[in-house]
Amino acid sequence: VNGKNIWRNHYEKTTNLLQELTKYSSQIVLNTSCSLLHVPYTLRHETKLNENYKKHFSFAEEKLNELAELANIIDSASPEETPAYQKNKALFTEERFCENKGVQEKVAALTEKDFVRLPEFSEREKIQHKVLNLPLLPTTTIGSFPQTKEVRANRAAFRKGEITEEQYVAFNKKKIADCVALQEEIGLDVLVHGEYERNDMVEYFGECLDGYLFTEKAWVQSYGTRCVKPPIIWGDICRAKPMTLKWSVYAQSLTKKPMKGMLTGPVTILNWSFPREDISLQECAYQIGLAIREEVLDLEKNGIQVIQIDEAALREKLPLRKSDWKSDYLDWAIPAFRLVHSGVKPETQIHTHMCYSEFADIIQDIDNMDADVITFEASRSDLTILDTLKENNFRTEVGPGVYDIHSPRIPTTEEIKSAIEKMLSRISKEKLWINPDCGLKTRGIQETIPSLVHLVQATKELR
Ligand code: GLN
Ligand code: ZN
Repeated sequence: VNGKNIWRNHYEKTTNLLQELTKYSSQIVLNTSCSLLHVPYTLRHETKLNENYKKHFSFAEEKLNELAELANIIDSASPEETPAYQKNKALFTEERFCENKGVQEKVAALTEKDFVRLPEFSEREKIQHKVLNLPLLPTTTIGSFPQTKEVRANRAAFRKGEITEEQYVAFNKKKIADCVALQEEIGLDVLVHGEYERNDMVEYFGECLDGYLFTEKAWVQSYGTRCVKPPIIWGDICRAKPMTLKWSVYAQSLTKKPMKGMLTGPVTILNWSFPREDISLQECAYQIGLAIREEVLDLEKNGIQVIQIDEAALREKLPLRKSDWKSDYLDWAIPAFRLVHSGVKPETQIHTHMCYSEFADIIQDIDNMDADVITFEASRSDLTILDTLKENNFRTEVGPGVYDIHSPRIPTTEEIKSAIEKMLSRISKEKLWINPDCGLKTRGIQETIPSLVHLVQATKELR
């Protein structure tokens, strides 16, 4: 029984496997494939999800029941006649009404050139430097600003129907306006809108896409005491409506500086959702890729010149065996990202962001994502990544985070300066960006402001 996903076990397949196994041993222990840490606790409290959906799922408690049922089925004289087997068989022959022919055709029609952005990187780099005209060592942030109690309360009130959509939007617009003003005052170069509308970077997009389902209480641990509620991919995915457009366009209208559009990439959306088991991960990643691509092109059409597509979790689902890395994962994960941005104009600058992870052994693949700029965690790993970049002639422009946002400690100007100096000894000044190492949503505003002030101060002194 798969311990990592939430779909019901297919008893026919499992009993066939077990029958095969009994040829080799009479002592078989039924178990889940791993600890149940990665799945939510129980379906019992999911009251809003229609039974037609719910009957296809199995969370931790239900998986234990599946083990017991499977044991009974196997022990029985005629397994296929047991009621549990029959019921499960009926479930798997049922039509799930989850297909979208249009999306399937679009994925089937993709060709090599859909994954290639032109002109090539060095050509674009020149054009973008000219058009964006940013100072040396441009400063930026990763996207989110502190998600304060009021921000969360506003969203909760809207969800519960306690405030109207107009009130909800007005509150967020005010937050965006304050955030833009703050960034201008601090003197950052490429601004963000602050992501106040997002609960988290995957669930938010799931809610704007067709093909997703949501639970009420299906939480799983993310790290430490932080938890996430991964959405479920039920069917073929497509963009139901623009997802971030109105927030980004509004934010850009408040400033002359470039406003970064802010999206989550297909691989991270897939890796932080519960995926389907009836189509391949590649197929699903390309469906999501096409949906995010539509948003990218919409942002570009509406005057957004810099677009960040986060792939925070790119490395997370890398197979355990190194021999499987390419064929089972990177060979579609990297193209899925390329598909999202291959249609933009040369002057549109594509950023991506990756969280804390071991990059060194996939550094070439990261460069092959063909983004224009990548920002990532580097401060906790003591900037060791810089040597790897240099050794590999990494061509994408980089913003290795200059301070650790996971800590409430405010970095001093001196300390940031010395981090940047270290970076400059390995990376050419034309390719270096200055930014924190991740989004600021878990920080308080009182530590965020001085930290960013110091970041800009350090950069100005070095310029
Ligand atoms: N843009 C996101 C943010 O700033 C990225 C979050 C992440 O990398 N986990 O919150
Ligand atoms: Zn991050």
